[in-house]
Amino acid sequence: MQKEIRQCQNCKKDFTIETDDFSFYEKMKVFTPSLCFECGMSRLTSLRNERIIYWNKCKKCENKTMSLYHPDSGYIVYCHACWWKDEWDGLSYGFDYDDSKSLIEQINNLQKNVPRESVIVLNSTNCNYGNNIRDSKDCYFCFLIAGSEHILYSMWMVNSKDCMEDHKVIDSELVIHSVDVANSYKSAYLHDSSDCSFCYFSYDLKGCNNCLLCSNLRNKSYCFKNKQLTKEEYQKEYEKFIDGSFETFNKTIEEYKNIQKKAIHRFSFTLKTTESIGNYLQNCNKSHWCFDGVNSQQVRNVASILYSKDSCFSYSVGTQPTENIFGGCVIKGGAVIKNSFNIFNSSYCSWCDSLVSCNNCIGCVGLKKKEYCILNKQYTKDDYNKIYKKIEEKGELSNFIEPLFSTFSYNETVAQDYYPLRKEEALQQKYKWQDDIPMTTGQETLKIKDLPDNIKDTNDDILDQILSCINCQRNYRIVPDEFSYLKDFNLPIPRECPQCRMSTRREMRLPFKLWHRSCMKEGCNNEFETSYAPERPEIVYCERCYQQEVY
Ligand SMILES: [Zn+2]
Ligand SMILES: [Zn+2]
Ligand SMILES: [Zn+2]
Ligand SMILES: [Zn+2]
Repeated sequence: MQKEIRQCQNCKKDFTIETDDFSFYEKMKVFTPSLCFECGMSRLTSLRNERIIYWNKCKKCENKTMSLYHPDSGYIVYCHACWWKDEWDGLSYGFDYDDSKSLIEQINNLQKNVPRESVIVLNSTNCNYGNNIRDSKDCYFCFLIAGSEHILYSMWMVNSKDCMEDHKVIDSELVIHSVDVANSYKSAYLHDSSDCSFCYFSYDLKGCNNCLLCSNLRNKSYCFKNKQLTKEEYQKEYEKFIDGSFETFNKTIEEYKNIQKKAIHRFSFTLKTTESIGNYLQNCNKSHWCFDGVNSQQVRNVASILYSKDSCFSYSVGTQPTENIFGGCVIKGGAVIKNSFNIFNSSYCSWCDSLVSCNNCIGCVGLKKKEYCILNKQYTKDDYNKIYKKIEEKGELSNFIEPLFSTFSYNETVAQDYYPLRKEEALQQKYKWQDDIPMTTGQETLKIKDLPDNIKDTNDDILDQILSCINCQRNYRIVPDEFSYLKDFNLPIPRECPQCRMSTRREMRLPFKLWHRSCMKEGCNNEFETSYAPERPEIVYCERCYQQEVY
């Protein structure tokens, strides 16, 4: 087949189906997409609530539990421990496939009745508020955390320790308020940097130490605004810009924003990646429209994908190897999975939700170690194949995931972070909406204007106070560990709530979108696909020009 331009059925923009893709869709027995990348991705991400937490009671043991589901959602929610016990069997909720009803209608029925896992916190201790945490300890208000310890208010941390207020920080210690940082130590407000220590308010540093308000530097020490200083001169500047005062902090943040604007930005962040188009890629090959990809090959229209091969239109795939995934969201290990959510170590499954070690299942919810099941009912292999054919003939297995499949409201999910919709828009597209997202206001015991300007003048009483966010009015507290980090780094008490602070960091990352642009270096005509929108202020260079300027 020749490459084909189509119009997205949702946003009406044109999108391209590449020649290679047709054979993939054929192999997976799915219809060629009717949605563009962004509309497809917003559907997939609408399946996952990563960070909205409610308090609920486990329906089984009746203990209080954190929950991804609103208490009035109508879902049966079990705490993590109860969900994983063998005491209940998903097959007891099964029923016969009814070909007079749509498949999705029948799946929705199961989703309402089969117990759902409250939050996903695996093999971790003292992680009191968070979701998607594994092999970690002492984390508070954290989401997407692996192998980490003593982390506060952060998202997407891997193998890190004693960190706070970060977004995607890997193999680091004592790094705070940072975004996309790896292998670093004792630093704050770092962005797109690695192998640094004692660096502050800086962008794109590698192998640096003791740098302040710098950008695009390699292996430097004692630099201030990209100027080489002596240790003593540097110390003076440091004390001017980081003195614990909120007033000073605001000025430093303004300088930091200017530094980022004036820095040279590589059109795409890739490492050891070949023949690929996308952003934030590492060890990828032949991966197109791929964002946050690691060790993946021949994947297309995907985001947050690790160790995957031949996959398309999927979000959050990994860390165990996967292959031939289409329409998957949170797929951890397995092959030939279509239109499914939260699948661990399973293969040959379509339209399934929350399966563990299952094979050959259609429309199943909350099953463990089962095979040849349809709508949670056990069949022999032959009977399974007969009913499979019947459903297949109706074409329902070939469609792309639809909004009704999600057990969350649009504004509870990752979709609202990346592809925000207003309530009316979401409802019109058949998504659910939650009006009651937990948020306390009006309980403040200390007005922000009465906070001491300097952290030095702030005493332990702050820990007993309730503050009100200057941005969204949400009430929040300062927790003891947070207070000690702030004192240690000589930074003032934040005037915004943790949720607003998290959003600010998320917005510092580039969107899962691409624009065709050309290199901004004078005299260079190279063109590329970049996640920097044309109207953005950053200076964006092609790979060659960036390497010439920065290395
Ligand atoms: Zn679209
Ligand atoms: Zn329980
Ligand atoms: Zn706020
Ligand atoms: Zn160039």
